[in-house]
Amino acid sequence: TTVNYPEEFKGFAISDPSEWSNPKLTSYIPKNFGPKDVDIEIECCGVCASELAVLKNKWSSGPLKSLSSTYGPKTQCVGHEVIGKVVKMGPDVTEFKLGQRVGLGAQAFSCQECSRCKADNDQYCEKYVGTYNGVYDDGYISQGGYASHVRANECCIFPIPDSLESHIIAPLQCGGLTVYSPLKRGIKDVLAEGIKPVVGIIGIGGLGHMAIMIAKALGADVVAISRSTSKKEDAIKMGADGFIATGSTEPWEKENYDKFHLLLNCASSATDLPLDRLLRTLQVNRPFISVGLPDIREKFEVSPFTFLQSGSVIGSSKLGSKAEAIELLELAAKHQFKPWVETIPISEAGVSEALTRLNDGDVRYRFTLTGFHEFFGT
Ligand code: NDP
Ligand code: ZN
Repeated sequence: TTVNYPEEFKGFAISDPSEWSNPKLTSYIPKNFGPKDVDIEIECCGVCASELAVLKNKWSSGPLKSLSSTYGPKTQCVGHEVIGKVVKMGPDVTEFKLGQRVGLGAQAFSCQECSRCKADNDQYCEKYVGTYNGVYDDGYISQGGYASHVRANECCIFPIPDSLESHIIAPLQCGGLTVYSPLKRGIKDVLAEGIKPVVGIIGIGGLGHMAIMIAKALGADVVAISRSTSKKEDAIKMGADGFIATGSTEPWEKENYDKFHLLLNCASSATDLPLDRLLRTLQVNRPFISVGLPDIREKFEVSPFTFLQSGSVIGSSKLGSKAEAIELLELAAKHQFKPWVETIPISEAGVSEALTRLNDGDVRYRFTLTGFHEFFGT
């Protein structure tokens, strides 16, 4: 079953990391169409800092995967905060209807059979394939959502509640979900005891600003933690109850001693992350969870003696499960929280502007590329 089904997808792609800020319009053959695959005709797509890391090849010690692939496109198109409509479905797709509005995040495949998938931890499936720069069994390198269409398994596609506006909630598909999962898992025990959790969000960018709103919707007191005071007013408007500027000379770690049940790190680099001071603000045995993924050469620097003070735990979290994505979209519909989105119409110039400004930290607080139907004639 198809509607206007194309043989090739069109997208903005690079053929070398030196071109990271200038993806060019190109066409490519999508992956082989599997029985549970869905083609989405894209309406809009958020711009995540992970895209910069992949385009610049900062997460790998080898070459960009698509350059050395033996089969499929030699170019790489990114984008994994997709909203669009279903235009083609494999024979075994059961969850969706043609024409339905859906979302796709950073994951395009999980096996649905392993113990992790069955326990709603599908983001940690061993067979995980990312929406772009992921490797399918046959060697095809996945291609993302700065494109006319994207192909993914139905197990990674989310239904979108009618009341949500596409360009506003596109960033929930990756960034929002990535903070929702550790927030929900990290304060569940506190809420169960009838205590109001106190959460610190570090790095007020795309993910961090959504984390403020989501943590509030989950019932926490929230402190925004940023390098300077420049985002203070915005953070309070987003719902933060407090603000810490880590670059300040004030003894903020003493003023906030024994405060947090959870610190969620959303910073894209560790070069300006005072971990020794930050960990002093945790309550006993509570975690510092990092979703931020810097350049692979960067390391967290922290003394074991800092952990000792409060028996702190340090950890990480990847995306979220499909079940959590559906919960998050329902939470957004119920609480009507809205990511702060600046839209940019898609084109070579538009994609370049979004990537360059995100790279420069010149975004308040998320870009969504829009106007896909006009540009691609879909
Ligand atoms: P943004 O660029 O929008 O925000 C990053 C924020 O990090 C900035 O706003 C800034 O906050 C802070 N920051 C920037 N440079 C530094 C520095 N040198 N030292 C300390 N802090 C810094 O990025 P996103 O929100 O889109 O992504 C955040 C991170 O999350 C990225 O690393 C991304 O790859 C990762 N990510 C991880 C996922 C996962 O599954 N774990 C999924 C999606 C994204 P401030 O100005 O407030 O200090
Ligand atoms: Zn992302």
